[in-house]
Amino acid sequence: MFGLFGNKETKKPEACDLPFLCWQCEMSAPGGCGSHGESKGVCGKTATKARLQDLMIYGLRGLSAYREHANELVSTPEESKILKEIDDVNAETLYFTLTNVNFNFDEHIAQLMKIGNAGVKVMDLLSNAHTKALGVPAPVTVTQNKAEGKAILVSGHNLDMLEKLLERIEERGLSDKINVYTHSEMLPAHGYPHLKKFKNLKGNIGKAWFDQTDIFTKWNGTCVVNTNCIVPPEKSKKVGNYIDRLYTYKITGIEGAKKIENDNFDPLIDQTLELPEVTGFDSDEKIVTGHHYKTVLEAYGAKVLDAIKEGKLKRVWVIAGCDAPGKKRNYYRELALALPKDHLIITSSCGKFRFNDVDFGNIPGTDIPRYIDLGQCNDSNGAVHIALAVAEALGIKDVNELPVSIALMWMEQKAIIILLALLSLGIKDIFIGPNAPQFANDDIVNFLVENFNLGVISGDIHKDFGKELAS
Ligand code: SF4
Ligand code: SF4
Repeated sequence: MFGLFGNKETKKPEACDLPFLCWQCEMSAPGGCGSHGESKGVCGKTATKARLQDLMIYGLRGLSAYREHANELVSTPEESKILKEIDDVNAETLYFTLTNVNFNFDEHIAQLMKIGNAGVKVMDLLSNAHTKALGVPAPVTVTQNKAEGKAILVSGHNLDMLEKLLERIEERGLSDKINVYTHSEMLPAHGYPHLKKFKNLKGNIGKAWFDQTDIFTKWNGTCVVNTNCIVPPEKSKKVGNYIDRLYTYKITGIEGAKKIENDNFDPLIDQTLELPEVTGFDSDEKIVTGHHYKTVLEAYGAKVLDAIKEGKLKRVWVIAGCDAPGKKRNYYRELALALPKDHLIITSSCGKFRFNDVDFGNIPGTDIPRYIDLGQCNDSNGAVHIALAVAEALGIKDVNELPVSIALMWMEQKAIIILLALLSLGIKDIFIGPNAPQFANDDIVNFLVENFNLGVISGDIHKDFGKELAS
């Protein structure tokens, strides 16, 4: 594999014309430092340092999202200590980006790795908190786009909120009157034992977050979005079709939607009872989820090792990340479909909806599934845990020597913290896409290529992965 960022045969990613833009202090040039093409700010901050500081802020945004998700789940002093460490990195990094604090390139990179390390910690914390509260997920096949009765559709990432909602429906004796369905990143909920036990948690509707305007419009019942990603009215006129049936939770909000206050789910439940039964969702499709890394290691760990040693399993692919509108991400489906039968796919996040309708079967000669859904974006740490466990068992010191290929899709800042987390662990040869990040300039690109062999997908799977596909 080669880094397409730096590959001479490949066009360099288009970059923003402005070298940088910073207007955070009073010394700012008129219109912001960099706004007229300057390569340095009045304070002496270079475009590269400014962009690296922007990247820090994007990483912190993703880190903060996971930290906030973890907040309501942690209970022990050890978990609180980890939260404090994460908060310290957050505060330190914000201070780092203050005017006239640091002008050292290496220390900018070190701070980014520190943010990545905090990302590793927060994803582990969240993963452990989920399995502690809801049990370790087990693989499950769920209905897709099939719904009946009075129903609530829950979208987002907040599994804790889903459990509270299901409990409240049960407390009110309404479990046989209201069904609950998942959308987008809530799909992995079906694998968790403490959620699966609710018989009115029925199945999944729709795909990644951006189909919500179509799905919610068609959905006769109520809808809840409990974290990002929600589509605002400015982006879709269709929001007006369901805004009176839409609820948001905690930090999530759009104008016109009702807010679930203080975990009081009764207004949502009451409105669901008043609304007609859902119709128009009669599909026979099925999808699979629930391969948490702990399940994978326990159920398939030894089998995977044997399969690698016997040559039955040749390569593992991590094809994961954020979905977003547009055809460019069809690349990832094309890639998943092109993999030889003795290659295994590990996925997570909503990008999986690009190919999770496919039955990939088992690795030939084994009962190891070729498609493993680790869960939500915050469960991406599972791929590293699996790789480290396999490397250790095979006596391989550098995890990068494993036959693993990584193709990630990025959209927003949770993906940035995941990327920084992977880089902080020394994971190399990652391909990202479908577009190059606009916050990178030549200096940052060269650094990423030289140190991590990071590449941007070209749009041609054979050009990017020809060697690996043939292995
Ligand atoms: S911090 Fe530096 S680059 Fe940013 S506005 Fe102030 S002087 Fe300009
Ligand atoms: S994986 Fe990313 S894009 Fe998808 S719902 Fe989660 S945060 Fe949003």
